[in-house]
Amino acid sequence: METILTGIRVNGELTLGNLLGALLPMARLSEQYKGTHKVNVFVPDLHTIIADVEGDLRANTLKSLRYYAAAGLDLKNDNIIIYRQSYIPAHSELCWILDTVATMGEMNRMTQFKEKSDGRDSANVGIFNYPVLMAADILLYGAKYVPVGEDQFQHLELTRNLGERFNNKYGEVFTLPATTAEQAAFMKGLAPEGKKADGIRIRDLQNPEKKMSKSSAAENSKIMLSDEPKIAAKKIMSAATDSVGKVQFDMFNQPGVSNLLQILALVTGDNLESVAARYAGETNYGDFKRKVAEAVEVFLVDFQAKVAEVSDADILAAFERGEKQANNVASAKLLEAQEAIGLR
Ligand code: ATP
Ligand code: MG
Repeated sequence: METILTGIRVNGELTLGNLLGALLPMARLSEQYKGTHKVNVFVPDLHTIIADVEGDLRANTLKSLRYYAAAGLDLKNDNIIIYRQSYIPAHSELCWILDTVATMGEMNRMTQFKEKSDGRDSANVGIFNYPVLMAADILLYGAKYVPVGEDQFQHLELTRNLGERFNNKYGEVFTLPATTAEQAAFMKGLAPEGKKADGIRIRDLQNPEKKMSKSSAAENSKIMLSDEPKIAAKKIMSAATDSVGKVQFDMFNQPGVSNLLQILALVTGDNLESVAARYAGETNYGDFKRKVAEAVEVFLVDFQAKVAEVSDADILAAFERGEKQANNVASAKLLEAQEAIGLR
């Protein structure tokens, strides 16, 4: 069975944008492939700590997992292996080994590092080194597909390079992930309606030129998954629109209205084209928004009920089972690497 590996970042509070753009697609992916593939879903907590953590990391992990489970991630399927990175010591150990085959030159070329460190002397070494940890995350499980945004493609290339260099130096130990072209093709297959897999971008309700972000200071600009559904409906009613006066999908000229159409489609599980067709000719933004607000309210009531049904015990049981499986696979691969080098 081929392995698909996906990380879930943990943040205590998430927005409707995070749910529609990340949690639901990830849950759909794991549902789609759990019969034919191994799906590794891991919490990259060692990656998380390269930046300051807001709140309690452990509580955030549980809360995010609860959201993922409510979004449809199956905590009980044997083919879905759910684990916390820091519970699998082989990640850190292989990271060190791979550090000894990575070069300063290639690491210095990592765009993410350049952006995140911004030349600051005070940038921590983790920011520099995390692509190597990411390579270990992937190579330990021989993961073939790693659905990530294009900003991470360079790190996937690095993973292939480090794995190949290790194999050339010490013998065939690692299975390389698919090339970035193959990854892109795989991800395209995941996207709804043939769109690019990272195509969904929910916009800021007050300033629809920007995407909705949980770190935005303006409360009315974002819908939090924990919002009282009635409050969320009010936020939709106060969303910025435009002076065109026509309900139609035109992200360039009417990002506010288009965003609401997109939200309506996603929360009702309908496709965008038919939702837009249904409102074609509608000129009253108030009526249109009321429909969107109602749909969002119904959606949140339902989602929050699902969240309440997920227990910490179920999450911890999934971790315990997944971490046992992941530790078996990862420590066996680590041992192979150690033997190839002569450490064992
Ligand atoms: P921050 O403001 O802290 O950057 P964020 O809301 O942008 O928070 P991230 O933690 O950066 O969220 O991203 C978490 C996941 O949610 C990523 O997979 C990202 O692509 C996705 N995501 C973030 N914002 C949106 C959005 N507005 N629409 C769709 N997906 C989104
Ligand atoms: Mg962000």
